[in-house]
Amino acid sequence: MLTSLDGQSAIVTGASKGIGKGIARVFARHGARVLVVARHIDAAEATAEELRDAGGQASAFAADVRDLAAMEAAAAAAVERHGGLDILCANAGIFPQVKLESMTDDDWDEVMDTNLKGTFVSVKACLPAMKKSGGGRIVLTSSITGPVTGYPGWAHYAASKAGQLGFLRTACMEVAGYGITMNAVMPGNIVTEGLEDLGEDYLETMAASIPLKRLGSVEDIGYAALFFASKEAGYITGQTIIVDGGQILPESLEALNT
Ligand code: NAP
Repeated sequence: MLTSLDGQSAIVTGASKGIGKGIARVFARHGARVLVVARHIDAAEATAEELRDAGGQASAFAADVRDLAAMEAAAAAAVERHGGLDILCANAGIFPQVKLESMTDDDWDEVMDTNLKGTFVSVKACLPAMKKSGGGRIVLTSSITGPVTGYPGWAHYAASKAGQLGFLRTACMEVAGYGITMNAVMPGNIVTEGLEDLGEDYLETMAASIPLKRLGSVEDIGYAALFFASKEAGYITGQTIIVDGGQILPESLEALNT
């Protein structure tokens, strides 16, 4: 059992649904006061209410992770409402699928701005408040797609997710002196609203290609993030953990099905 996050203030971006909501739920259950950040306030409010109904402490804030001023306002709200800022989960991201030959500049920019620039913006905006807290934990949501695997239609997405890890390995050194650690979770295929939008065929094919024979749950990622956010993970920084049911391992169909 990890030391609880009792009384710690956490921002989770993209927490109105999917993986972010799973992280927020696990954190709230372990005592954190969670600021649920997303662009659409109604969905963020609904998630915060769900967390409070389950006995947790949470409130909602509307912000776009591409917008530094908006993320600074989110950090200020966490400090004011929840007594400081100890943990940031930079999780918000998008994964529209489009093959290279039809990919436009705008397609590329939207994914890079949200997933990669959004990570930088979220970290930069939260840093002053985390320094004031005397230390903290930053957990990024990357992916297996890009750093380890590839998938047609996701060249921009894969580049953004690999880019997050490049960012991580330098940024973690810059914040280490403040007692802040920074690590990344690399999910495989996790059942979320965003993934379900890819269709039943995609979900079934994916489940069949995973040694554990199921897609992951958002809480599978929540618990990995909880470990990085814990007191016990205090000497780990700049590292990654793959949570994918073994998906990256099989070298062939035979290897998968024996
Ligand atoms: P999702 O179900 O589509 O949820 C995305 C969340 O991000 C929503 O809360 C959305 O709310 C928010 N969001 C999107 N753009 C935003 C922006 N510009 N500013 C602030 N919030 C924004 O997605 P998911 O599947 O949970 O994915 C979450 C993260 O996990 C992403 O970084 C993704 O790359 C990563 N990931 C997912 C999987 C998977 O299998 N699902 C696998 C590997 C990695 P609003 O629309 O209201 O802003």
